[in-house]
Amino acid sequence: MPNQKAAQQAILVVGAGMSGLTAAIEAAEVGREVYIVEKEAFLGGRVAQMNQYFPKLCSPDCGLEINYRRIKTNPRIHILTMAQIVKIDGKEGDYNVSIKVMPRYVNERCTACGECSNACTVEIDNKFNFGLDKVKAAYLPHAFAFPLRYIIDPSLINTENAKEVEKACKYKAIELDMKEKEISINVGAVIWATGWSPYDASKIMFYGAGSYKNVLTNIQFERFASSSGHTKGKIIKPSDGGIVNSVAFVQCAGSRDENHLPYCSRICCLATLKHAMYVREQYPNAEISIFYIDIRALGRFEDFYNKVKQDDKISFIKGKVAKIEEDKATKELTLRVEDQETQRIINKKVDLVVLATGMVPNTAIDKIPAEIQYDENGFIINDPLKTGIYGAGCIKKPADVAVSVQDATNAAMKAIQSTARR
Ligand SMILES: Cc1cc2nc3c(=O)[nH]c(=O)nc-3n(C[C@H](O)[C@H](O)[C@H](O)COP(=O)(O)OP(=O)(O)OC[C@H]3O[C@@H](n4cnc5c(N)ncnc54)[C@H](O)[C@@H]3O)c2cc1C
Repeated sequence: MPNQKAAQQAILVVGAGMSGLTAAIEAAEVGREVYIVEKEAFLGGRVAQMNQYFPKLCSPDCGLEINYRRIKTNPRIHILTMAQIVKIDGKEGDYNVSIKVMPRYVNERCTACGECSNACTVEIDNKFNFGLDKVKAAYLPHAFAFPLRYIIDPSLINTENAKEVEKACKYKAIELDMKEKEISINVGAVIWATGWSPYDASKIMFYGAGSYKNVLTNIQFERFASSSGHTKGKIIKPSDGGIVNSVAFVQCAGSRDENHLPYCSRICCLATLKHAMYVREQYPNAEISIFYIDIRALGRFEDFYNKVKQDDKISFIKGKVAKIEEDKATKELTLRVEDQETQRIINKKVDLVVLATGMVPNTAIDKIPAEIQYDENGFIINDPLKTGIYGAGCIKKPADVAVSVQDATNAAMKAIQSTARR
């Protein structure tokens, strides 16, 4: 344990997506002890679920890997996965924080050999792939997980199979009696970077998400296109596994809508341009329709938009989709929309629909156990008069990775100043 002065100079980072990782590394590299508290069993946040990054369409694993390397070589960074904050008491320069850590049932002796999974007969929904497939109840969270360590789902504990799974591990890494624990730390500042969740598309009744098999959300579509996803990267019709001849992207699905999310998530247009490229790569002749209110691709992203527009099989149709219907027999989908440029009603038939749903800050539901300001949609507002706890990245506003990283660097600077003031 660090001495009192060092503890008060320490920084707690909650959430280990791109924003949290950046803030943690920046603070640790100037000499602060940093605690990362992440609720999932792995680091990387939403970016770990992406297939490619816009605008360059490179793999997110590259960006994450650089951060993991910096973490591995920095002894000042302490990581707690499967952990959440219970209580924060105190003030800037001197916070006492209680953290609940859930049991993983697998200790650090795990070599990720996979023998436990081979012995496991119980299956659970694969959360990483949004429940689109199943995994064994003794599993690696995903192929590039960091830390690279298996996890056992609580549903396996107390079953007969659990004992076989334990026996299959020759490294004695499985601890079926591992318990939830609560620990306390003392830190001088807190960075809250718990990011975003996709808007629940099933709330948009007239689009059929959740009931029509061939209606996906944008973030689900990332898993379809990813080689580590449940289709091994093949974009197919979920209804029958068949090839895709036509796709419609529905922009602002629930966004800029007083009944759902009143704000623009800024990212969805760019994500759709990227997704159109995913389709084009696999289906050179597929017809792609993008229904939009207006395309928001500003600054350096405009070139990306212009590049996608050059594809003569991609149509941009200005109009808000009113309704999607499914043919019960063929599962073909029909979108009903008024083309605002021609004022005509279009009934567009396609194989697959991707809904560009927006980003909801996780603090809209899961509030911080400390006094902090939020806007009307649950995003954190950093109040310049109340220092010590700072939001970073998408918890403050919807943003791409580059903007989140800049914001997290700024939060790291503020947190360092908080610890230096005392
Ligand atoms: C469909 C789609 C595609 C996108 N594609 C791109 C792209 O190609 N390029 C690009 O630049 N940007 C893209 N983005 C945006 C990108 O996802 C964000 O910029 C990025 O995720 C922001 O990182 P973050 O760390 O702020 O949040 P997150 O990635 O959400 O990370 C938050 C972390 O906090 C953890 N957490 C949550 N709650 C708690 C809690 N209570 N306690 C502890 N930990 C918690 C989460 O498990 C997670 O690890 C896309 C967004 C969407 C919607």
